[in-house]
Amino acid sequence: MSEILKPCPFCGGNVYNDFKTVDGKTQSLIGVYVICQSCDMVMRSEWLPSENSFSEIIEINNKLIERWNRRAKSE
Ligand SMILES: [Zn+2]
Repeated sequence: MSEILKPCPFCGGNVYNDFKTVDGKTQSLIGVYVICQSCDMVMRSEWLPSENSFSEIIEINNKLIERWNRRAKSE
């Protein structure tokens, strides 16, 4: 994880990175999340087939963190 998460833009609380899986009808899907511990603000990536390689999932995660950090800018 090369990207560093900025605090929540809404409440300034600590945020953390998480991965969750959903069992679809034919395949398992994985979603990458950024979640605020204080106000339950959640940002999620698109669902990905869980057979994606770990490096692909990390790449998606880095993009999600970039999006989060852009939103976290005050201006
Ligand atoms: Zn928050």
